[in-house]
Amino acid sequence: MQPMPTADLRRNSGRRYSGPLLTMASGFTPIGLEDYVALHLKANPGENRGTLVKNLRSAIAADRQGVRCACDAPLWIAGSAQAGHGCFACITSGSTPDGNYKIVVATDRM
Ligand SMILES: [Zn+2]
Repeated sequence: MQPMPTADLRRNSGRRYSGPLLTMASGFTPIGLEDYVALHLKANPGENRGTLVKNLRSAIAADRQGVRCACDAPLWIAGSAQAGHGCFACITSGSTPDGNYKIVVATDRM
């Protein structure tokens, strides 16, 4: 008689994935710098626009210079502007990137 994989059966019985549906495989939402600033200030009305833009530009510049997270992953621009240079996983302690924005640095016209 074979042992029953009870733990696995319990985990899969009648359970459905109820998390957010991600539109991209990476889980990141591509967004331009100006759009991000507008959204961020809407969600955080107390923040200074000039400081936010300065921090974002600083993070983008560091990324372009090849600065990486302590774990050697590429920088997460939006998070690095707030919490210092780091990748998404390190800044958020490994949470799933739903609802967070990764700034796409395609153009730099601010
Ligand atoms: Zn990291």
